Amino acid sequence: MEREFEIAKIESADISYSEGEREASYYMDGRKVLKYLSQRPDLASKFEEFIPPQEFTKLSDPEFQDSDRYKELATRIDEVAANNKEANKIWERFLPIMLDALNGYIARLGIDLDPDEIRKRSEGLSIICLDIYRFWANIIKRGIREDASGIYQPKEKLIAYTMTHFSKRDFERLSTRAQFENIKSLVLHELIHALSYQNFWISYKEKEGGGKVPEGIITRRIGIGGTTFGKTLKLEPLNEAITQRLVKELLPSILEVKDEVKAKFVDREDLIYKEEQEVLSILTRKIDWKIFVAALFSKDGLPQLARSIREQYGLSLKELSDLMRLDSRKSQNQGKGCKYELTKQRLGSI
Ligand SMILES: [Zn+2]
Repeated sequence: MEREFEIAKIESADISYSEGEREASYYMDGRKVLKYLSQRPDLASKFEEFIPPQEFTKLSDPEFQDSDRYKELATRIDEVAANNKEANKIWERFLPIMLDALNGYIARLGIDLDPDEIRKRSEGLSIICLDIYRFWANIIKRGIREDASGIYQPKEKLIAYTMTHFSKRDFERLSTRAQFENIKSLVLHELIHALSYQNFWISYKEKEGGGKVPEGIITRRIGIGGTTFGKTLKLEPLNEAITQRLVKELLPSILEVKDEVKAKFVDREDLIYKEEQEVLSILTRKIDWKIFVAALFSKDGLPQLARSIREQYGLSLKELSDLMRLDSRKSQNQGKGCKYELTKQRLGSI
């Protein structure tokens, strides 16, 4: 059946979810976790501390699923505490500091944006900390890209994060305070996505006996990225680059560590979306950074960015987006990391 779409009048502040429903779908039980992990035998080495690889590859075997050993694994995953309380504490303390830092930064750049508008977008947002098993089960379940330690789900207004970027041993060696500081940049990145400008499509399906009923919500725009009717991703790499640069700019004012440690933490952020950040830094040689920030957070900022890119580089946003997608597809086919060579060449830096 052909789907029909309408541009929804809803923005992120208009979506609400019942707490229980949303969390239950992320904090799945041990058996469900194993069911999703079983779809990806190639991930065995990630979980070897807990599930021996020869057992991991058997997770989809019905006979193994009937065994006591399987039951034991499921029970152990149930026992891994999804540390919700800790996450809520971090969240409660972190959010007002982050909102003030961001609003202050936006105002200092001279962008005309109501601080209450940004604050409003944080209402109803949920943040949950997932253990590595549930985090991966959710990545598999929802088809999310795999290099993330944090997830922002716009339709559900939810941030989920895990601590997989540390080995368990390294992480446990850190004091609780240092663990908290370490997570800030991760949560901050997802939070910037959550506070960026968003709107949605509503899809409708035909009702029996005529007429149509709303079927679901599809992300139309998130920051400067978005989708065409929920299908093709647009400008996502550049959206990540702007987000990550903002993390670097804001991090010093929200970290509560000694200055020399602070510098180390901020430097670490250069490695995240490194190549995307390089493309952005080429663009900011000719276009004011402020225009990118305005485009991320406001509805009208995006057409302004489009005008600037056309003026300076003779490219439409669609052409730039297609170019970056082409680069990314090419490097995927060659099995190597994407350096956006064609994009850089077109922008005149090679
Ligand atoms: Zn991101």
